[in-house]
Parts: sequence; structure tokens; C-alpha cells
Amino acid sequence: MDSEQFREFAKAVVDYIADYTENVRDRPVLSSVKPGYLYDLVPAEAPVKGEDWKTVIADVEKIIMPGITHWQSPQFHGFFPTANSYPAIVGDLLSTGIGCIGFSWITSPACTELEVQVMNWFGKMLQIPKEFLNESEGPGGGIIQGSASEATFVCLLAAKDRMTKHVKTINPLLEDGEIKAKLIAYTSDQSNSSVEKSGLLGSMPMRLLKSDENGRLTGPVLLKAVEEDRAKGLIPCYVVATLGTTGTCAFDCLEELGPICNENNIWLHVDAAYAGAAFILPEYRHLMAGVEFADSFDVNLHKWLLVNFDCSALWVKNATHLVNAFNVERVYLNHSYQSEDPQIPDFRHWQIPLGRRFRALKVWFVMRLYGVEGLQAHIKKQVQLAELFGQLVEQDRRFEVVTPVTMGLVCFRLKGDNVWTKKLYDSLMSRRQIYLVTASVRSQLVIRFVVCSRLTEQKDVEFAWNEISTLVDTLAGTEEWAKKDGEDRRKYLSQG
Ligand SMILES: *Cc1c(COP(=O)(O)O)cnc(C)c1O
Repeated sequence: MDSEQFREFAKAVVDYIADYTENVRDRPVLSSVKPGYLYDLVPAEAPVKGEDWKTVIADVEKIIMPGITHWQSPQFHGFFPTANSYPAIVGDLLSTGIGCIGFSWITSPACTELEVQVMNWFGKMLQIPKEFLNESEGPGGGIIQGSASEATFVCLLAAKDRMTKHVKTINPLLEDGEIKAKLIAYTSDQSNSSVEKSGLLGSMPMRLLKSDENGRLTGPVLLKAVEEDRAKGLIPCYVVATLGTTGTCAFDCLEELGPICNENNIWLHVDAAYAGAAFILPEYRHLMAGVEFADSFDVNLHKWLLVNFDCSALWVKNATHLVNAFNVERVYLNHSYQSEDPQIPDFRHWQIPLGRRFRALKVWFVMRLYGVEGLQAHIKKQVQLAELFGQLVEQDRRFEVVTPVTMGLVCFRLKGDNVWTKKLYDSLMSRRQIYLVTASVRSQLVIRFVVCSRLTEQKDVEFAWNEISTLVDTLAGTEEWAKKDGEDRRKYLSQG
């Protein structure tokens, strides 16, 4: 393909993306294909002769789109938001076009330095402690990781290395392996699945401590676990606290956990993948009180801040722990600009892969085109839409809102036995008009409604509520529901 054809091809795709975005509301949010649908449409062998791009692009609508779950649809209310915006799409396109791999400073100085700078910008927008920023005097700094999962894992590995070295200074006769076998990590039973996975991958048992009735991990629970394990000869090494849990958006008691970690030389990682974005607004910053105790702090730009996947902002207070854990030298990687200066980092020592994309470009585009105010307005609007949904649920006596509406999340259920909520959820999913996921709160089944898409408006929230409430009206009229719980249940459900 020559550059003239590229211009045509790429412009056609840009038009396709703009049309797709404008009309995504009209596509059913959930795909209705059967497993394996695509194998019948795409031949088993690659074409021997190159095809025309126009033929290929025509197949996107025919072959690909039927199998897409439309995450950017205003009817998508599952999980948490997955960011998407035009400036970020263009930033990613440019990054791909430049095609540099910025693993060290010299491999593209702009790639490293723009990343340092946008991480400073973002850190200041959130008002996290200065020590975390590259621009501070100390060894702190920020890096863009691919995901919050990687950030949790990378910090676990750094914690492991730091603790092993620390124990060796006290007890030089111990072998590394002996020490590492005794290390143990903690998180709450509400933390994201990726936290437990990081323990598995890093060969460090991850204890899932019991959260309180509000879904929070508290200090006394952590302290008790740490003391129990010490008594068994284990070495507490790593704690992952969550600000905004995936199930109910609960906030662990960071001000209680922090001092315990600091006093016991335990690495404290704070996972604020979703809710952390809200700290760009002053009214939410009290929710990160205690972050000053943390060794590392992570917020996904790719969730709630309009930067397309993948883009997870990780700060560490002391980057030398990452560099110590990950530094592997080779002659071909040496260059004369190697530097200990966290302002000119070689990011390959801060992450798992060697290669890295120029992700800072899309962050730069989004922050410049939206401005801090634009991003704040986005968060505010989505919170307001969630509050509206919460009010609609609360006005209906058949339903209850189970945990306070937090950020863009509403956890609700039908009053009474879980079986009704399950039935409602299954019917909603088979109708495919809106997409939601469930969670379990104090053994109650709840449906999570999250304002996800940048395109969601009041009418979409009303559409979702209408879909849910009229479905209950219909279900209430069915024989099955009447029989399950007797005639009373049917009457109760149809009261509205
Ligand atoms: C979404 C989420 C994660 C996982 O994020 P990835 O970037 O997909 O790895 C981790 N923790 C919390 C609290 C989350 O909400």
C-alpha cells in the first residue's frame, strides 16, 4: 500500500469510526451471535494474493460488527467505564504512525519526557503527595502501565525485592529463596480479581481479609492478620488497599491501614483504578486521605478519564525499588545517557516488557483538548446521571438501593428473596436492550448499574430504568412469578 492509498483507507476508517460513534445508540448493546459464528465467515487460510482495502473494510460491518459488544453504547452499564474519546483515538493513531518503542530515553526522548510531564500534570490534578511526582526532588515518579493489574503486579515484585534485601541486611546468612518463601501479602475480599492474580503470578500468598459491613478493609483486621502471620514465622510484605472496589465502590480505611504498613515495613499499594479519577474534583479528595502512607498509587486513565485503553497511571514514592527489581543490563541496551535521575528515567526498568508504546501522546491530546475543567465536567455529569438513576429506583417501592450511590455506580435489587433479582437480571440479559452485571453484597444479589459511556445522557438513564421497571411489571403478571411466592407476591410486584 502506498501513502496515497493509505490516505484514502485511513480517512475511510475515520469516517467509519465517527459514524459508528454517532449511531452506536441504535445498535443492540449485546451481540446475539452464537459461539463460533466467525469461523464460518472467515476462511481457514490467509489469502494468497493481497486484497483491495475496500473489500476488506466492507467485511467489517458484515463479519466483525455482529460479534461486537458495544462498550461505548449509552446502554452499556456493566463493569466500569472504558474510556473513549476522539482526542485519544487520534493520539493512539499518531503513536502507531510514529511507531517508536520508548524503552529508554535515547530510543525517543520525547516518548519518555512527555510521559514524565503528563504524569506530573495528572498527579497535580489529583493533588497526590508531591513525593510521588517525578518533578519532586526525591526518588519518586510516575509511569504509564498497560493496566491496573500490571501496576499491582509490578509493585508486588518490587515489594518482594525490597523486603528480601531488607531481611538479608538483618540476617545475611539467609538464602533469597528461604526469605521469599515466607513472604505474604494482604488485600480485602472485595478487591479486584487482578489483585489475587498478582499474588499467584508473583508466588506470594495473597490473603483475602474480611471486609466490614460496608465492604471496607479496616486497620484492626489487617493488624490481626499481620500479627498472626508473624507468630507463624511468616514475613508480611505487601498490602493492596482499594479506593473504589469493583463490586460496590467501597473505600478501604486507608488512614488506618497506612500506619500499620509503614510501622511494619510493608509495601502499601493503593488501587484506585476507577474511583481515583474523581479526585480531580476537590469535593472527592477527602476519599484518598491516607494516600501519603502509600508506596504506590494507581489510577486508570482508561476507565473514567476519556483516554482509550491501555493507559494506567502508576506512581511510586521510590522508583529505585522498581529499578532494583527489574534492572537487567545488556551491552546492546547500554547508552551514554543512562541516568539515575527519576526525571530522565529508563522506563524499561519500571515495567515488565522491554518495549513500550508512546501512550503519553493520547493523554497529552485528551488533557489539552478537554482541559482540567472539561474532564471535571465529564466526571460531574456521570455522577449526576447515576444519582438520577438511584432516585428512579428509590421511587419504586418494589426495589431497594443496597449501598449508597457512589461515583457512577448504583447497586440495586428487588426487595425480598434473591431469586427475584436473579430472574429479573436473566430476563434483562435475554432481552439485550441494556447491559449490566451483578454482584453479591452481604449475601444479597444486587444488580450494578454504572454510567459508562461518554455518550450517556438523561434519556438513556430513563430508557434503562423504563426497561427494568416495565420488565418487572410484565414478570409480575406471569404465572411463574405468581406461583413461586403465592398470589401476594404478584400483587406486591405490580404495585409499582
Ligand atoms: C478495573 C479495575 C481493575 C483492573 O483494571 P485493569 O486496568 O483492567 O487491569 C483493578 N482494580 C479495580 C479497583 C478496578 O476497578
